[in-house]
Amino acid sequence: MARYTGPVCRICRRHGTKLFLKGTKCLTEKCPIQRRNFPPGQHGQGRTKMSDYGLQLREKQKVKRMYGLLEKQFRRTFAQASQAKGAPGVKLLELLERRIDNVVFRLGFATSRSQARQLVRHRHVGVGEHRVTVPSFSVRPGMAVRIVGSEKFLAALKETRELTKDRPLPGWLDRHPEEPLGTVTGTPKRDDVQFPIQESLIVELYSK
Ligand code: SF4
Repeated sequence: MARYTGPVCRICRRHGTKLFLKGTKCLTEKCPIQRRNFPPGQHGQGRTKMSDYGLQLREKQKVKRMYGLLEKQFRRTFAQASQAKGAPGVKLLELLERRIDNVVFRLGFATSRSQARQLVRHRHVGVGEHRVTVPSFSVRPGMAVRIVGSEKFLAALKETRELTKDRPLPGWLDRHPEEPLGTVTGTPKRDDVQFPIQESLIVELYSK
């Protein structure tokens, strides 16, 4: 399954915001956004005026990178959102939020979405009675998400939970205080995505 494997901090610098792609480094002073908050490259500090198309493209790239999708997957998710009832931009965010790799990240069982994706691929994530190995698996209300593994693995997970304990839990998820277990209690609403995203720009881009 294809995924982006290039440098990630320069993506944050390109978008001028923290996208939290690197796990624990994102929470420390080593985060390049804190030291060099300007676009990467030789002309990074030059002035640029972006066209409407540029702004739409940049917003789409930001969301796509944030959730760790490649273009084809992202476009397919948008097509799915367009066919559903409701505003396509909001539906797109709902579908992205319901991905199992995002749920594992949001529950605080991983420091980044890429780490969460790895947990899924390595068969450490169970939904109900079954293991899920597909990061795009979409959760539904009532589902229980559990991290499974050896004692050593679960001890290491406690450290991760300690690191992520201050991260706010969205209203549509519930987490057991001790066990590596979470429950999906509803569907994500627009307000649950508190990261600044202008989904209307993505809709405009794909509606051309
Ligand atoms: Fe982005 Fe994290 Fe790198 Fe900071 S450390 S630039 S938030 S990926």
